[in-house]
Amino acid sequence: MRKPLVAGNWKMNGSIDSIKTLLAGIKAGLDSVSNADLAVCAPAIYIPLVQAELDGSGIGWGAQDVSIHASGAYTGEIASSMLQDYGCQYVIVGHSERRTYHKESDELVADKVEVARKAGLTPIFCIGETLEQREGGITEQVCARQIDALINKYGVEALADGVIAYEPVWAIGTGKTASPEQAQEVHAFIRGRVAAKSSEIGDKLRILYGGSMKPGNAAELMAKPDIDGGLIGGAALKAEDFLGICQAG
Ligand code: PEP
Repeated sequence: MRKPLVAGNWKMNGSIDSIKTLLAGIKAGLDSVSNADLAVCAPAIYIPLVQAELDGSGIGWGAQDVSIHASGAYTGEIASSMLQDYGCQYVIVGHSERRTYHKESDELVADKVEVARKAGLTPIFCIGETLEQREGGITEQVCARQIDALINKYGVEALADGVIAYEPVWAIGTGKTASPEQAQEVHAFIRGRVAAKSSEIGDKLRILYGGSMKPGNAAELMAKPDIDGGLIGGAALKAEDFLGICQAG
């Protein structure tokens, strides 16, 4: 049985004060969550603050990106070892905003997943199609291409104990959520693609849904057999909403 994971992606939001308030609110309501692992992925500069606030709480934390390099002349980059110095367990990799605004390719994303995993972090490997691709009927083809870029280079073991976030780009930050049926269909496809290489890894893989998940739609999404939690953007910035989603796990 896969335990749901609900991870907040704060993106480029927050301040010292707002983060303290948000985390205090989440910690205060933690008793109401019985069946989910929780994590927050903060802007890098606030990770030490998040660590100080969450240490010992049972809530995990992580970053939103990682470098493929171990160290050196890579201005602005952050290495996996640096994330580990501040207790990160997770890192979001290949979010559609990075694929779009920073031109991250499938190959680079695959390299980041592998670097993070080798360092002992759990990458939250984001995949998903644009609206144009969905309307063009190539959703599965796009997801397969994104997954295969990883598996073909590093083997299916790159997804052992792994987390994939299926995030239809048209549902991110738009208020449009994939229906539970639409999401389940793609999640089942993703699991099948991985299970075709290793049924054990496919069975254990946690596949999160991301795209305008809220307390009001989380339960029916997570009730689907292949939806193992959520990657949450906007709703992760309010303790009550984030907890409401976590309670649905
Ligand atoms: C995200 O950015 O990963 C996301 C799912 O955002 P939102 O929940 O705001 O759609």
